[in-house]
Amino acid sequence: MEHEFLELVSSLVCLIEDGRLVFLNRAGVRMLGLGSAAEATGATFENYVVDDYRFLMEAGWDLLAEEEFLPLKLLRVDGSVFEAELRVRQAGAGSNRFLIEARDISKFVRSAEALREREERLQGVLSSVAEGIITINDSGRIESANPAAEAMFGYGRGQLAGRDMLDLMPAGARDRHMRFFDAYMSGLFPTLMGRQVEGLGQRQGGEAFPMEISVSELRHGRHRLFTAILRDISERKENEERIKRLAHHDSLTGLPNRNLLTDRMDHAVARIRRHGGRMAVLYVDLDKFKPINDTLGHEAGDSVLCEVAVRLRGCVRSTDTVARVGGDEFVVAIEEITRPDEAARVARKIIKTLEAPIDYRGTPCRVGASIGVAVFPDDGATLEDVCKAADVAMYRVKHSGRNGFRFFAETADET
Ligand code: GH3
Ligand code: MG
Repeated sequence: MEHEFLELVSSLVCLIEDGRLVFLNRAGVRMLGLGSAAEATGATFENYVVDDYRFLMEAGWDLLAEEEFLPLKLLRVDGSVFEAELRVRQAGAGSNRFLIEARDISKFVRSAEALREREERLQGVLSSVAEGIITINDSGRIESANPAAEAMFGYGRGQLAGRDMLDLMPAGARDRHMRFFDAYMSGLFPTLMGRQVEGLGQRQGGEAFPMEISVSELRHGRHRLFTAILRDISERKENEERIKRLAHHDSLTGLPNRNLLTDRMDHAVARIRRHGGRMAVLYVDLDKFKPINDTLGHEAGDSVLCEVAVRLRGCVRSTDTVARVGGDEFVVAIEEITRPDEAARVARKIIKTLEAPIDYRGTPCRVGASIGVAVFPDDGATLEDVCKAADVAMYRVKHSGRNGFRFFAETADET
């Protein structure tokens, strides 16, 4: 029997003569769900092809024989459909006899579809995460970037891929990065991977911003691929800065508050203990401030406090501290004085600068200042003692007519 060997083939094999099936192997009978080969004999092959693909056969078997293979869908007798790959071969040039071989490729198609679906789902995840995710090859070129990364650096869709990763960092950070990258590639610093570090990024417009970076490495055959997960932390940093400012500054005038004042004075005291020198502490309480609140309102009082703050700052050097420590109480710390005279000069300057009325919406407001001066270490062995001394001196000015200054030392005997 001439077709004996075709029965050994595990894919469908059939022979067509003048467009009709003259032979179908057992694998084909099984694949098409037939009872026997006889059921197919005399039928056209189109019988077993899903409608949408029958137009292919209209081209003629001789033309189809020129194709290496044809992917299409075949129909079983029970009406079910499967994916197939067809090969058509002509028995000889001009012959009306053709051999058709069909393989069931449903499994491959299904797994390819599953793969595509998985890929799409992964892309979906990558586009929905808030973190920027970029992959970088071992020569530092960006291979892919998710939409969050593109947005973070100010690039449009697809504009990051292909760029050098150095484009994403400010010029000042590039050298250090390159040294690090080279060292890593040659086997040093293997511990960076997986750790979270802070660094600087650069947006397309040139603006630098802080980011949190964690890098992991994928081995890809002989190549290495780096995945960087990036988070823009500029907002968080700004918040931290604001909180720090709030903790150290008075929100109305922007002057240092008592915390920051104490901190600075502590440092000055430590320095003086080591190297010698003197620090003057001036306690300043405004005179007759309350009436401004009472007649013009709290807002007027606020505005006057702000102007006083500006004028006080104008009386000292930038290295000195002017702090607001209470409602209308300020402290001026002059870190380095050689003679008490210098503190007196500042006190006089303060009283003079407050003589000019402060304008509040067309109304001139007048405040004076009572200033008590104490000197470290002359008036006390600790910062606390010296501050108390300045306070005492200030109250003495209040009791003896206001708008003036006194040294604690010159009034000590009055207690
Ligand atoms: P004295 O001459 O004895 O110092 O009296 P004064 O009118 O200056 O009043 P005093 O120092 O006893 O009290 C300060 C007042 O400042 C009390 C309070 O109503 C007011 N005050 C405290 N904090 C603020 C503030 O933040 N804004 C405004 N507008 N007023 C404040
Ligand atoms: Mg007062």
